[in-house]
Amino acid sequence: MAAPWEDVLRNEPAIQEAASVAVDAALLEGVLMRTEGEPNASDVVNYAPFTLLPSAVPSILFEQAYAVQQDFNLLVDAISQNREFLEHTLASTIKVDDFTARLFRIHMQVLEEGLAQSVFLGINRSDYMFDCGVDGTPALKQIEINTIAASFGGLTSRTAAVHGRVLKVLGKSKEASRLLPNNPSIGLALGIAKAWELYGSQSAVVMFLVEEVQRNIFDQRCVENELWNRNIRVIRKRFRDVFEKGSLDDAKRLYMDGQEVAVVYYREGYVPTNYDQQNWEARLLLERSRAVKCPDIATQLAGTKKVQQELSRPGTLERLLPGRAEAVARIRATFAGLYSLDMGEEGDKIAATAIADPDRFVLKPQREGGGNNLYGEELRQVLEKIRDSPERTSYILMDKIKPQPAINYLLRAHSPLQASECISELGIFGVYVRQGKEMVMNKAAGHLLRTKAIEHADGGVAAGVAVLDTPYLV
Ligand code: ADP
Ligand code: MG
Repeated sequence: MAAPWEDVLRNEPAIQEAASVAVDAALLEGVLMRTEGEPNASDVVNYAPFTLLPSAVPSILFEQAYAVQQDFNLLVDAISQNREFLEHTLASTIKVDDFTARLFRIHMQVLEEGLAQSVFLGINRSDYMFDCGVDGTPALKQIEINTIAASFGGLTSRTAAVHGRVLKVLGKSKEASRLLPNNPSIGLALGIAKAWELYGSQSAVVMFLVEEVQRNIFDQRCVENELWNRNIRVIRKRFRDVFEKGSLDDAKRLYMDGQEVAVVYYREGYVPTNYDQQNWEARLLLERSRAVKCPDIATQLAGTKKVQQELSRPGTLERLLPGRAEAVARIRATFAGLYSLDMGEEGDKIAATAIADPDRFVLKPQREGGGNNLYGEELRQVLEKIRDSPERTSYILMDKIKPQPAINYLLRAHSPLQASECISELGIFGVYVRQGKEMVMNKAAGHLLRTKAIEHADGGVAAGVAVLDTPYLV
């Protein structure tokens, strides 16, 4: 899996020069983030962290990840419409996990009232790592699928240009020309635009629902710009604004400040800290409305770790996707071992196995956003403590993926330049639109490669651990 620039990795002057070119190129291309010190102001911004060099990705696994994306879109959409499956799968989780329980209650309430929404828009990102088998052959293994607020589709649309420049500076023009074009921000915007069009009101707007702290605003602006380019008006609001100024009319049309909202695109609302009582009320208002939610609450629930674990049970995929044996096979091929910790014999057994051999597993709570999983000794201690308590059902266990590390340089503002052993995670963006029962769009919309030093078990770009990267297919 070696990239063809092993020769320059230890050439310090060349690396230093390339790094200074890289940083300027990133600023020039707009690979930007607001600073930690001033997360809500654009007066001073910096580059988003990224690798100096593209990372080698086996082309066969890259193609496999693209080839299964439409299947995953269908699967997520099918789960979101399957009330019984969600109810049954999340039954044990919602007894012990308050956050999932609250989401679930809104889901139920909206169903009881009857869905006002008839157009559905899904934007997800399926993430993978390359598991290194005993014979050294890498295999594509899904880490998770993100069905709400999947980020970095904007900034990653601009990183290939930066890495192309770096390779040229290092005398690798031929390799630079092989970097793939990649523009998820267009794909995401086309999905939003389609949903907006099907909603059917020329004067209605798209509302980006954003967090209080908006460090990653440029990533969102990339998508927003594509919508303005198509003459679709975009507003940015927080839950707090919705609580204060949002309303529904008799037909459950959603209005903000008197403006009708066609599409609500959530870049918020995926972790408990996003919610206080008012924000929960705002979320309920949005879900009850006829506006297209991206995602609706059922689709958010379809992305929980508990659902992921249930999907790996024999027969589940077949039931969710009847008559689609090939799609089922493609999806299943990407699954790592996943295990339920529900009370009972099966859960007792796997808990004991993980306590005896914690390095084989990752312990995952129902949380998003990085930094929540438990590994190694910590996994053992926590599992030992909760093994006989229902609390354990708020977690799932997963086989730990073990990728082959490679040397790279991680560029971060105010950090020294040093070589690190790194591993990468590949994400594929999926976009789909359904009107009633009919799928009118189902696409893979581009990719994201994130890379981190091996000493960090967990964490994404926003969490300050991983950095943006570009795949170099080998
Ligand atoms: P989150 O919703 O917090 O992003 P993830 O399931 O994506 O949760 O896990 C966060 C990070 O932990 C991943 O980006 C990856 O680096 C690491 N990780 C997760 N699952 C595994 C696994 N099975 N094997 C190895 N590393 C994992
Ligand atoms: Mg993740």
